[in-house]
Amino acid sequence: MNATVEQFEFQAEARQLLDLMIHSVYSNKDSFLRELISNASDALDKLRLEAFRNKDLDVDTSDLHIVIDVDKEARTLTVRDNGIGMTRDEVVDLIGTLAKSGTARVRQQLREAETVGDADALIGQFGIGFYSVFMVADRVELLTRKAGESEATRWESSGDGTYTIASVDDAPQGTSVTLHLKPEDAENELHDYTAGWTIRSLVKKYSDFIAWPIRMDVERRSPADDEGGEDTVTVEAETLNSMKALWARSKDEVSAEEYAEFYKHIAHAWDDPLEVIAMKAEGTFEYQALLFIPSHAPFDLFTQDAHVGIQLYVRRVFIMGDCDQLLPQYLRFVKGVVDASDMSLNVSREILQQDRQVKAIRRRLTKKVLSTIADLQSERPEDYRTFWTQFGRVVKEGLLSDFDNRDALLRVCSFASTRSDEESTTLAGYVERMKDGQDQIFYATGDTREQILRSPHLEAFKAKGYEVLLLTDPVDEVWVQNVTEFDGKALQSVARGEVDLESDEEKSAHEAEREEQEKQFADLIGWLKETLGEHVKDVRLSARLTESPACLITDAFDITPALARLYRASGQEVPVTKRILELNPDHPLVTGLRRAHSERAQDPDVAETAELLYGTALLAEGGALDDPARFADLLAARLARTL
Ligand code: ADP
Ligand code: MG
Repeated sequence: MNATVEQFEFQAEARQLLDLMIHSVYSNKDSFLRELISNASDALDKLRLEAFRNKDLDVDTSDLHIVIDVDKEARTLTVRDNGIGMTRDEVVDLIGTLAKSGTARVRQQLREAETVGDADALIGQFGIGFYSVFMVADRVELLTRKAGESEATRWESSGDGTYTIASVDDAPQGTSVTLHLKPEDAENELHDYTAGWTIRSLVKKYSDFIAWPIRMDVERRSPADDEGGEDTVTVEAETLNSMKALWARSKDEVSAEEYAEFYKHIAHAWDDPLEVIAMKAEGTFEYQALLFIPSHAPFDLFTQDAHVGIQLYVRRVFIMGDCDQLLPQYLRFVKGVVDASDMSLNVSREILQQDRQVKAIRRRLTKKVLSTIADLQSERPEDYRTFWTQFGRVVKEGLLSDFDNRDALLRVCSFASTRSDEESTTLAGYVERMKDGQDQIFYATGDTREQILRSPHLEAFKAKGYEVLLLTDPVDEVWVQNVTEFDGKALQSVARGEVDLESDEEKSAHEAEREEQEKQFADLIGWLKETLGEHVKDVRLSARLTESPACLITDAFDITPALARLYRASGQEVPVTKRILELNPDHPLVTGLRRAHSERAQDPDVAETAELLYGTALLAEGGALDDPARFADLLAARLARTL
């Protein structure tokens, strides 16, 4: 029946994963069945959709289903569907390799997971669905024929690093996967998957909600009738799952386990969701939504091809996955299903973009997700922390794009602050703790907490006991430009504009001293403006320094160097903006420079000291020098003279 059998090697990463699966100590070996059924169900969804879109496709979609066959003698289990099937190339591409986007990460994780003991964690982390069959089987055959094609493909592997592929002439359309089962091993949670009741209970447990019938043949023995003769045995196909769409049932009818299994199916996840959101809208636009907040961020959350988690159904019919119109980008980690009542089955992505109904659904879902996060925050702080650690960076992207929900977004955000090393704070918490007379929310941005804490900008805030938010995500640098206030309190960068931390009393007490200093330093400042004119737009005395000699400040409406770097990295042109040099009039380097300048204004050494002072201020905040080599030369020459 078939022609040549070709042998292939698994792609390296796939091979390592297979190895992991074969020697798996993963306790939940049963889940292989959920994975096979999940794939079969996806294939049936795809076929129905394809048949609907492509009227030329000559397929019978009147009885789409999944069949499970067991053979006790041969110890095989087969899961068969009459879904979309795969071409030969697709088999090589989809089964022979791992999802491309994940390979780099998988490779790294595999290198780190030296022992099989780490398998649980690893298996949980990747949607490595199909390969899970090798937890329970020594050998696996897959026979598949794509809808609309005549040639079929047989794939076979023992999970030993190679697989074979052959073309086959006659095969039913769809896919069947046959497992040659390993011996039963109850100690290692390897059950007897040829036992009808095992299969029945696994399907019930993991796959009850699957929208397609999952059938299995059962033998029914009718006892011989009164007139003697033999018992009659009939074989009947029994449907194992209820096929009830979970989103159509009310929340109190569905158990947490059922939700979790459904989540695993649609999200291709192996762990439980952090939170379930079930919604039902009636009225103008009727729809039901079942959304999940995952407990772990997927590895591709920040890549270009990050998956969007929402599937669109219309009256129980799967229409599309990755439906990016139903939630904003910054909620792309939310998984789930939206089932709309009054939409055309023919709806396309293009139509969705314009659709009023879709916009209304999107608004509602967004608000609901944000209010759910707010509830987590107030009711389940531990889970909220998990959530924020995993997804906070993504949620903050919303501060840039979603003006309507800005306040709700700001309320669910939390930030590190100078108040505590471990605990972060909400903005509301910060405002509650604000000092008498404080009317601004102070924040500092930077690469790391440590770097910000050592920056000269923070000195006066520390000395006077003001709390400062420490913002270290790249996105923070951007949103603080757009968000100017919270709860009527302005957001103020410690490294921008003027700061005023003194009370009125302190101010009047210092006024005379201040005026005196302005006079004393007027000459030096005038000269520094010229000498450093290439680097800074202004020089002034500082109210924010207590220990360092100088620091650099971004003018109130200028762009910060970090933001300029971000823009440049994304290919945009940004003009160089000069900053303001602030001097600490009490620092010996500054007073010494003033004296030196008044005595030897023409001495090139004095100008060099000014340059070094500027460079030091830049380094102290973690900035980069324009000409590091020159700075190093000047410094080395200076140091040599001190020896
Ligand atoms: P995932 O389901 O997360 O994509 P899997 O390892 O479970 O990962 O499956 C890999 C791919 O193989 C699927 O995305 C699908 O394209 C294809 N596939 C697997 N099983 C089937 C099937 N029964 N019918 C059609 N395609 C399938
Ligand atoms: Mg799968």
